[in-house]
Amino acid sequence: MPGPLRDYAVDQWTSRDGLPHNSIRDLAQTPDGYLWFATWEGLVRYDGLEFVVYDRSTSTPALLDNGVGTLYVDPTGALWFSDSRGNVGRRDAGGAWRVWSAAEEGWPQVLVHAMVMDAQGRLWLLFEGRGLGALHADGRFEYTEPPPGVPLALSYPHMAVGQDGRIWIGGLGGLLVREPDGRLHRAPAALGLAPGLAWPYRAPDGAIWLVAGDSVHRIEGAAAPRRYRIPGQGDFTAMLQDRHGALWLGSESRGLLRIGARGVETPPTDAARPPGRIVGLLEDAEGSVWAGANGGLFRLRETLFQRLTAHDGLSGDYARALLEDRDGTLWIGGASGLDRHLPDGHLAPFALQPGVPPSVLSLAQDRDGDVWVGAYGGRVFRMRDGVVVDRLQGFPGHIRAIEATPDGAVWIATHSGPVRLVDGRVDTPRVPGLPTGLVTSLAWIDDALWVGSVEGASVLEGGRVRHVALPAGARTVFAFRRIGDAVWMATDRGLHRVRGNAVAPVGLAQGLPVDTVFQIVPDRIGNAWITSNRGMLRARMQDLDAVADGRLATLPLERYDEIDGMSSAQGNGSSSPSAILRADGSVWMATARGISGVDPQRWSSYRKRLPPVPRIDAVRLDGEPLDWRDGQQLEGGARISVSFVGLSFLMSDRIRFRTRLEGLDARWIEHGRQRSVEFVGLPPGDYVLQVEAAHPEGEWSAHPAAWHFSVAPRWWQRHSVQLALAVLALLAPALLYGVRLRRYRRANDRLSHLVDERTRTLQRQTEQLLEADREKTELLGRLQAQAETFERQALEDALTGLPNRRSFDAALAREFARAHRKGQPLCLMILDVDRFKTVNDQYSHVVGDAVLRQVGELLMGACRATDIAARIGGEEFALILVDTSPDEAHVVYARLRDAFARRTDWGGVPGLRITISAGSTRIDPLDTAPAQLVRRADMALYRAKSAGRDQLCDG
Ligand code: GH3
Ligand code: MG
Ligand code: MG
Repeated sequence: MPGPLRDYAVDQWTSRDGLPHNSIRDLAQTPDGYLWFATWEGLVRYDGLEFVVYDRSTSTPALLDNGVGTLYVDPTGALWFSDSRGNVGRRDAGGAWRVWSAAEEGWPQVLVHAMVMDAQGRLWLLFEGRGLGALHADGRFEYTEPPPGVPLALSYPHMAVGQDGRIWIGGLGGLLVREPDGRLHRAPAALGLAPGLAWPYRAPDGAIWLVAGDSVHRIEGAAAPRRYRIPGQGDFTAMLQDRHGALWLGSESRGLLRIGARGVETPPTDAARPPGRIVGLLEDAEGSVWAGANGGLFRLRETLFQRLTAHDGLSGDYARALLEDRDGTLWIGGASGLDRHLPDGHLAPFALQPGVPPSVLSLAQDRDGDVWVGAYGGRVFRMRDGVVVDRLQGFPGHIRAIEATPDGAVWIATHSGPVRLVDGRVDTPRVPGLPTGLVTSLAWIDDALWVGSVEGASVLEGGRVRHVALPAGARTVFAFRRIGDAVWMATDRGLHRVRGNAVAPVGLAQGLPVDTVFQIVPDRIGNAWITSNRGMLRARMQDLDAVADGRLATLPLERYDEIDGMSSAQGNGSSSPSAILRADGSVWMATARGISGVDPQRWSSYRKRLPPVPRIDAVRLDGEPLDWRDGQQLEGGARISVSFVGLSFLMSDRIRFRTRLEGLDARWIEHGRQRSVEFVGLPPGDYVLQVEAAHPEGEWSAHPAAWHFSVAPRWWQRHSVQLALAVLALLAPALLYGVRLRRYRRANDRLSHLVDERTRTLQRQTEQLLEADREKTELLGRLQAQAETFERQALEDALTGLPNRRSFDAALAREFARAHRKGQPLCLMILDVDRFKTVNDQYSHVVGDAVLRQVGELLMGACRATDIAARIGGEEFALILVDTSPDEAHVVYARLRDAFARRTDWGGVPGLRITISAGSTRIDPLDTAPAQLVRRADMALYRAKSAGRDQLCDG
């Protein structure tokens, strides 16, 4: 059973991460492992690291329209995509592209709402407002106008074909069905669906589910019993059944929910809720769930780490110390006080004193089970059975560590050395050599007190103090931990193992990625978890020993951070215990954002995840891209560079690669994270390049990617050439004489003919050249005109004629630099048409397009000659207001709003009203990049939307 949804990590991508548009319209994964997204600015391929955009400017495939609307992967593994103007494209499993033009094929030139292939290989297309068409496997296209009486014009973008061949079609006014014999009708009332919007979903097991109102039904024979009802929800827009059988539902404005073995669950936090409408859900091959929303792309995945933050009810995010008491209660101390997490899951603050809670730095439990708390300002609290029984104060400095000993004493770390409490009273033995300055850590190990200070480590044992010399550079000891027969110290210069008198370092030089480490916690399956400011490190305990012994030069380890589900990679270490092993075997650490924990048992299954699928991405020959195929023959002597990817969407940047060139390499060659390999001057022969990929410490992919090619011998390397040369060398003198003699005779005869012929040829050539020159001039003219068109298209939005996103980015960068240079004000306003989707839904895309054109005109009208208006995506626009104050920006918006209100002919629909929301921001002298302006304006825009739309907010 998968973990609870609240423990899932949520990742998010927007246009800031390389997506061409924030509104995802559909998503799919092809069997080769790539993810595909449909956006208003093209079709996007994702390999875990890079978004590759295919649009009207790419040559393969040359899309006919950038507004890609739906995706569909057919049973052969081909990816189908369609756009807002009825064009359809396909990328087959071999990677070959084909595009059908709606205009040329005579199909309706409107948005394709949904695509689905039936058992006969017919691809059914649902055209917005125009009903169904089918592209047959033989390339024939069949389209019939919707019959009267069937409200097919009001289709909703979901369609599914059942195993019986019936096609279920979503509709705003109810569900529609196409029978295998071609009859189209409304879904029978006997199905018992709620009136209004209803749509189908085909689960991976072939079952057809129906969504209507707040209910989900499943078709069984002629009936569709209701399976779930989620009152208070509704407006569902997308559905998915995952590999565990759980149902995921996306909605218009309430994000996501999952119905499974744990009941109805919602994602962990509000921040983890995709904003806006969820248009598509997808489970990828690795089991992560992707949600495409109009506010970006989201992924939910089970992670190695769990988190507990202020969002979950912690008093504050800055956690410093952790303690699990004998009752299994987890105490969490931090800058905002103390919290208690009870074994039943209940989390609540614990009041140490009336009023403002003290800032907690250290925790300990003594022999009798009392919990001790060390705080800022020299305060110490003692609790018994959940009640504060002692409040001590006046200790020098902040109390960074407390340690209870088996004889009942409690040691306290102060700014003036360690202090011992016996029966609640100070009773510190006077021992020469005990540190008198700031104590940073304390540990009672084998009847000895280990004291970490800025002077190093001192061990108080049997009334005497022994000093453990730290190797050069180390100044602060953050923690001591007994592991086996050694004591490990975590310091600001790595780890040190103390065994007897020998101190062995395991630091930067031995492969630790950081200098400062705070804690080392061994788990029960042989790992050591090491906390740092850069995440949690994991190494095998036996490797740590081998490195400390000098048997191993570098420590193999892994580093975990936010990608793995940690709430923050920044650990807090100058307090204690800042990391602990809990009774259930999990390891937890205090971070700058709550606490994060890992269950090492899950780490082993995390490691057993599928290896990434290796793919050869591109081949270059002497630096030039090569259209590579299997069985290709390459020129000898060339430089061959091959780049590859490992298709996994988990920790994509940590994937390792290895290659083997059969015909050259006897064994695999590891490349680490390097994603390419190069061969220069391969000898002639047949080769197979094999590529494998693996996650850190994971297994290599079972099926390598392979490319078969051969290298031709260079001309002098060919056997025939070599043989001919040898014969030639032998016969050369005789041949040479004969050839000369004959050539002289013939030359004489031909000379006279030649003069005549040459004269005629020259005349002919002159004519041809003149003709060619004329053609060339004409061609050049045409090419230039075309180049200008392309250049314009590249910078101009085809629909409105306004500058597009690309030229907006360039203009903003330019104006940003200029404003900084001249110290002039600059405002950026981002505008978004309100509830524009309803315009499309109610009046069609044609009307929507017309409205967008009019919006473009009004924007141009509202700004001054020096301002720049641009369409930056779908129904989003931007105004760069040069040399303009925020007050003036308000005037511009007011003018615009007025013009919107006055317009009565929106899209040619009488009575239609259109409003626009905007977010505006001014340049700040501290801004370093134009993206900061965009982010602020975006956030202000979101505020304007939530405050009721039709208004401007400042950011
Ligand atoms: P909100 O007030 O929250 O902005 O609601 P909204 O419906 O405007 O926002 P949302 O982002 O959900 O919808 C944007 C819609 O814009 C989705 C799509 O139908 C439409 N759209 C985007 N680009 C085009 C286009 O080129 N032509 C047409 N006709 N519609 C487009
Ligand atoms: Mg929008
Ligand atoms: Mg909008």
